[in-house]
Amino acid sequence: MYLDPFSVSTDIQVTPVETELDRESTDQLLDEIQTILGVSLLSDELTTDTEDSIETDGDILLVTYEVIGGELENPQLESVAPEFQTLQKDEHQQQSLWETFSEMIPAEKRKMITHFGFYTDGPDDTLAYVEQMDGQPAEWGMYIDVQDGKNASIFPTIVHEYGHVMSLGVDQTNHMSDECDTLSLDEGCVDEDSYIYLFHKSFWEDLQLDWEDSVDPEDSDSVYAFYEDRSDQFVNDYAATNVVEDFAESFAYYVFQPLPSETRIREEKIAFFDQFPELITLRGEILLGLRDFLIQD
Ligand SMILES: [Zn+2]
Repeated sequence: MYLDPFSVSTDIQVTPVETELDRESTDQLLDEIQTILGVSLLSDELTTDTEDSIETDGDILLVTYEVIGGELENPQLESVAPEFQTLQKDEHQQQSLWETFSEMIPAEKRKMITHFGFYTDGPDDTLAYVEQMDGQPAEWGMYIDVQDGKNASIFPTIVHEYGHVMSLGVDQTNHMSDECDTLSLDEGCVDEDSYIYLFHKSFWEDLQLDWEDSVDPEDSDSVYAFYEDRSDQFVNDYAATNVVEDFAESFAYYVFQPLPSETRIREEKIAFFDQFPELITLRGEILLGLRDFLIQD
């Protein structure tokens, strides 16, 4: 609902009207965000400035916090080489990245994120990752590369990572089952009515055998070759890695662009999420949270 602030009499106390997070007003939020940032968040050109960056040999974990009552607590500092200590001690940046995440994802929808950490693998490469905590499938850690955290691509990256937690959590998968009639992933056998199984049935059933024959997810050349032959089916080349990455990447595109009008498989994947009323709402909450976060700075 649109409330024109100039038409309201100043004598009356007005409570701001809750924005209805339907598709139309949510697309307006997206326009506002793109205007504030001055970039398209799905652009390939959002790379990290390498000038002052520190190159690394692999992943350097810096610090992991526990998430308690919506705050970062009990920092667990790793022992790192002197050149990483400034990054490790930059609590201001770490808090700001936590705020970015916690403003975008509503509190009741991120309870499973019990740990939040920071690492670096140099500029670009892996911007963030999530993982189930050891022996605790209901608990997840999210980790952000602090050197990429200044880049606007952090916003779609957070949504991508959240897409993994949303689709692979214990409410969507059964990690105890020995037999699996749906789809077996590292996190367990996915539920029949889970988002990712519905996504798989719609888009991966015909693809699966070809993908198994030609793709090694660790080998980006094989992923790229698979993508190039089917670029009308994937939002980008990384999405061709496997169904899990395709789901998360398509979800980030769903959040950060208006519903596409074309009807190629690539666009159908983006529209897939719009069939779930709770995801339409979530998209609105994410964009509202991000818009508010950006204007408060
Ligand atoms: Zn991913």
